[in-house]
Amino acid sequence: MSIPANQDELRLAYAAGTLAEAPALVVATQAALDPACRRDVERYEALGGAILDAMAPAPLSAGAREDILALLDAAPREEAPDGAAGRLPAAGQVPAPLARYLPAPLERLPWRQVTRGLRDWLLPEMAGGRARLMWVRGGTALPKHTHNGPEMTLVLEGAYRDGGRDYAAGDLQLADPSVDHQPRVETRAPCLCLVVTDAPVRLTGRVGRFLNRFVRY
Ligand code: ZN
Repeated sequence: MSIPANQDELRLAYAAGTLAEAPALVVATQAALDPACRRDVERYEALGGAILDAMAPAPLSAGAREDILALLDAAPREEAPDGAAGRLPAAGQVPAPLARYLPAPLERLPWRQVTRGLRDWLLPEMAGGRARLMWVRGGTALPKHTHNGPEMTLVLEGAYRDGGRDYAAGDLQLADPSVDHQPRVETRAPCLCLVVTDAPVRLTGRVGRFLNRFVRY
């Protein structure tokens, strides 16, 4: 699988319909949370329609044109309320593109306790990567780790800090094998993320290197 290395390319690939299911789910969910992402996707979708028009060797028949417009209209579009407060899903709710994958409300999912402050739940298998929800207790740092492939982390609720940057609801962090990091939730509130990887991460702290032999995370 290839996941584009930056957010613009990601959004463009999503609008063009060339992303595999797992990364596409991340972009669709981000578009539901973040108005700027949604605007980009809509712009790229419109651009795609214009390119199709320009590429058509002969004027499109009325029927074909209708078909293409219908396809563009059918692209997922989620309405999120405007304003900063509107970026957070209401308690216990998740954006519609993601909600389709959940068999139960968030609080009733069969979460796995990974460490004291970290729980996760694996989404059903899908093309293009392993998708999971990750819940991190407030005041908790994730195990230090690096990656064997690309990693997409989309904040759904709460916030975390990594590499001197804060990631809040609607923010997407892209990491790859060149990144060795330890995201921290510095708030008292927990942080809920949607994470897609296409290879297991590798723990890199002193304890982590030891745990690697036993834990496949
Ligand atoms: Zn990572």
